[in-house]
Amino acid sequence: MRILQVNKYLYRRAGAEAYVLDWAELLIKHGQETGLWGTEAFPCHSEGAQRLKNPVHKGTGSFASAQDDVVIFNDLLVEERHFDQREGFWRDIKKVGHMIWSWESVRKFEEVLQRFKPDIVHIHNIYHHISPSILPMAKRFGVPVVMTVHDYHLINPNYNLYDHGEICERKGIYAIAHKCIKDSYAASFADVLEWGIHKMLRVYDNNVARYVVPTEFVKEKLVEQGIGGRHIEVVPLPVILNGVQCSEEFRANARDGRTYMRDSLLPAVAQNDSNGGYVLFAGRITREKGVYLLLEMAKKLPEMQFKIAGTGPELTNVKLKIKNEKLENIELLGFLEKAELREIIDGARLVAVPSLWPEPSPFAVLEAQAAGKVVLASRIGGIQNLIEDGKTGFLVTIRKYENTTKSTKLFKDWVDKVREIYYDETRLKQIGQAAREYIKKTHDPEEHYAALFKVYKEVTRND
Ligand SMILES: [Zn+2]
Repeated sequence: MRILQVNKYLYRRAGAEAYVLDWAELLIKHGQETGLWGTEAFPCHSEGAQRLKNPVHKGTGSFASAQDDVVIFNDLLVEERHFDQREGFWRDIKKVGHMIWSWESVRKFEEVLQRFKPDIVHIHNIYHHISPSILPMAKRFGVPVVMTVHDYHLINPNYNLYDHGEICERKGIYAIAHKCIKDSYAASFADVLEWGIHKMLRVYDNNVARYVVPTEFVKEKLVEQGIGGRHIEVVPLPVILNGVQCSEEFRANARDGRTYMRDSLLPAVAQNDSNGGYVLFAGRITREKGVYLLLEMAKKLPEMQFKIAGTGPELTNVKLKIKNEKLENIELLGFLEKAELREIIDGARLVAVPSLWPEPSPFAVLEAQAAGKVVLASRIGGIQNLIEDGKTGFLVTIRKYENTTKSTKLFKDWVDKVREIYYDETRLKQIGQAAREYIKKTHDPEEHYAALFKVYKEVTRND
């Protein structure tokens, strides 16, 4: 089968991108021809960029020989736009136009379809940078569209349902008044307009054959907002700890694809007897990931060590806060490649995921569980589907309407919980192992492949 994956970024940036790249690898291992298409935005330091930009772009060549590698259409990527910056009135207006209906995307996508002739178009995060204007084009070519839902943009202009320290599901005029997007009237107006027009055109509903979501929570949320229940498939995310680089190893070591995936899913690590020596936060450094909550914990628990792996828009502020409050028990590790991150996870005693937005299915939880670590996370979003409190990890409740940036009650709950578990060697071991078993059972990449490929087969048959 020939499958085109579409996502706005084609390098490892956040969970969605990690998934898109890992999924492309999985498809290739199973002998499926796989293309990637999105914007030309690549940070020069990224490992993904190195790999993707150099050896694999065969976009202009023949596809007969492309089976071992992902096909990238380098000459047809969508121009990078900076939606976070104000660039003058007319340029900003043009950007809003691009968000709503991008003729550049349509034109380039048409050519990709002509060259690659996919059987399936599988879209991920396409809003703003690509826009759903490409979807009717897929339909014109008779190619069914599958969409993996990575956030809440389908049901709300504010994709993470979080702003100003609280869960927020305002829409329309209320969202503008509340400045839900980036605390700005202009940005909120633009996103509300974009969202409203796409909703009115039913551009997703009319063109997407099947939605794929990672957890029951996301499904419930979509159904609640009127997005077709029977077209939603829950497929738990695969945990592939080695990520993109593993294909070389695969070719060297594998007896066959299945053996490799089974073996590599949970390599012989993390079963060391010591429970590690720090509390780890791994993820994008943003407000909604609860990074400030972690700083509060570090302040209240000076006897413990904390490490933060990752980078993001709040990094400068976080550094400043650590310095001003003299938090000497926090270490900032910066962006880590997969292998390095693995080691850091292995050395942790507890992994904290104090997210404040209803995360669909964070890898920070899954990868720590896979490593046999005890995860302490917010009782929010899809996380509740991944952790059984007290059995495969621990959950801390966020009360309704609680302002998560100010609530001393919430801070105290976290500190108490960390203190309770941190020194309990027996429970750390027991729950870590249960978490690992859960991942083996539910997040196996081969099971994921089988479930998603079934979806591919169903939608091609229907068409
Ligand atoms: Zn709001």
